[in-house]
Amino acid sequence: QFIETSLCAQSSAEDYEEVCELGKGSFAVVKRVLHRPTGIEYAMKVMDKKKLLRGAAAGDARCCTAEQMTELQSRVLMEARILRTIEHPNVIKFVDIFEDATKLYLVMELVQGGELFDRLERDGPFAEADARHVMFQLLSALNYLHERHIVHRDLKPENILLKEPPAGATSFLPEVKIADFGLAKLVGADVHFRAATFCGTPQYFAPEVLETRSSGRGYDRACDVWSVGVLMYNLLSASPPFADQVAPPGASGAPATIFDQIKAGVNAAHFRHPVWDRVSPAAKQMICRMLVVDPRRRLSVAQALADPWMQGEIQAFGSFR
Ligand code: ADP
Ligand code: MG
Repeated sequence: QFIETSLCAQSSAEDYEEVCELGKGSFAVVKRVLHRPTGIEYAMKVMDKKKLLRGAAAGDARCCTAEQMTELQSRVLMEARILRTIEHPNVIKFVDIFEDATKLYLVMELVQGGELFDRLERDGPFAEADARHVMFQLLSALNYLHERHIVHRDLKPENILLKEPPAGATSFLPEVKIADFGLAKLVGADVHFRAATFCGTPQYFAPEVLETRSSGRGYDRACDVWSVGVLMYNLLSASPPFADQVAPPGASGAPATIFDQIKAGVNAAHFRHPVWDRVSPAAKQMICRMLVVDPRRRLSVAQALADPWMQGEIQAFGSFR
């Protein structure tokens, strides 16, 4: 028995009929399902218990610890426990959790517009007004989560889902929902993000998160602001500020690794690409205030919400110097 009975409802996998696959993550498959008794469609995250354990033991050496079972179990249950308490328009809603001999099932609200990641890949950068609307929703959700001492820690465009535009709508502002609380934790004095749970891409990880890995020091909610800063950069340019690079032919020395780049923070060089020419200085300034390496000097969520760019003050076009 993986799941404590207090978390379980009366449902079982047989109540749900698979419609199609929605997405795959590192440890789970997410399916679109029909709840037969009610006819309502949901998203169901299916986790293979064996795979969870094998994945931890094989592949990534950092994931392999003596307490892997307990670690993974607490991670999965934490996702359910956290999701269950959240009631916010920009966070996916928890519906149910149950298990059978081989699998764990987490049922949640279905979001049908796809990942923000795919949207950026397909359509390119967001217009500033759309990006602001997305940022407002993300920051409002973070404000809500942080007030409840929940840190998400894995905010990236794969974990942000777009709502489907209303039928027949010609123009609409993008609505988003935060998904994947698999790395989220309730912040408390005794809770530290342990290196053993590192499995994802570092592209959105704050510098202090990378440090924690070696030093074992804890950090707090400021890491979510960093990730949202990376996201804002990505929304406005459709490319990430930090990424592993291939050395150009003839270049001397290896290019800076993604870890080195993250630890150096953001600067004017990050806005050199022509895509940034049509972005307001206020937007670039806000990104720079969020991507401050020292978490104590970084904008808080409240400060980010009050930032001039968030308040809708788009200045005349001009480049950031
Ligand atoms: P993992 O923890 O393995 O990354 P996620 O919870 O991020 O798993 O889910 C993996 C993918 O499944 C997401 O990136 C998204 O494409 C899709 N997905 C997850 N939850 C939902 C949902 N509620 N509605 C629609 N699609 C979802
Ligand atoms: Mg995910």
